[in-house]
Amino acid sequence: MPKLIIFSAPSGSGKSTLVCYLLQQGLPLQFSVSATSREARGKEKHGVEYYFLSPAEFRERIAKGEFLEYEEVYTDKFYGTLKSEVDRILNEGNNVVLDVDCVGGVNIKKIYANRALSIFVMPPSIDELRQRLEKRGTDKPEVIEARLKKAEYEMSFAPQFDKIILNDDFDRAKTEMLKTVRNFIEDN
Ligand code: ADP
Ligand code: 5GP
Repeated sequence: MPKLIIFSAPSGSGKSTLVCYLLQQGLPLQFSVSATSREARGKEKHGVEYYFLSPAEFRERIAKGEFLEYEEVYTDKFYGTLKSEVDRILNEGNNVVLDVDCVGGVNIKKIYANRALSIFVMPPSIDELRQRLEKRGTDKPEVIEARLKKAEYEMSFAPQFDKIILNDDFDRAKTEMLKTVRNFIEDN
């Protein structure tokens, strides 16, 4: 039976970089594209990184019960996992990879229990997080501040995850992550 692999982390920890690497390994995995009401960044495309919705469209879909879970991650910035997306991937016989915030991660793990592996990507420090966000250069200074402010709170969720992966050295972290995911999806 196909399974779910959930990734959560404070913004800037390197979660997207790890997920991107995982999806290139030729494993039977597919990324669950979330919906969001935030604006697209850089080269992001509708239907690839996210389904970009207006806040009104997002609320309409909440009312219709289309989300497995959703969160207002930052003020007015909604993010949610569509039931249709997860069901489609599972029905196609693939394992689902989710990139969600910490609360969403804990919620999806509760719904799918042993069918899901929840991974928390831990940054080495808040200082390093700031440097990575500044270097990434995709967010305005006030957005970076908001994300850093939230990071410590998010880190308090780590013990609720099945596995904590410290993303200090990327090569080490990616090897540990790949081994963990392989073991989980190959274990019947
Ligand atoms: P997230 O998805 O958690 O917000 P990203 O994957 O976008 O984070 O990573 C944030 C930035 O940090 C990116 O510029 C990425 O290249 C860089 N990065 C990721 N992992 C490491 C690492 N282990 N060491 C140094 N920089 C890293
Ligand atoms: P970003 O704006 O950097 O793409 O994402 C901000 C945060 O929203 C990240 O922590 C990301 O994991 C989270 N996120 C993305 N999609 C979802 C989702 O469907 N549900 C929840 N709860 N969080 C999400």
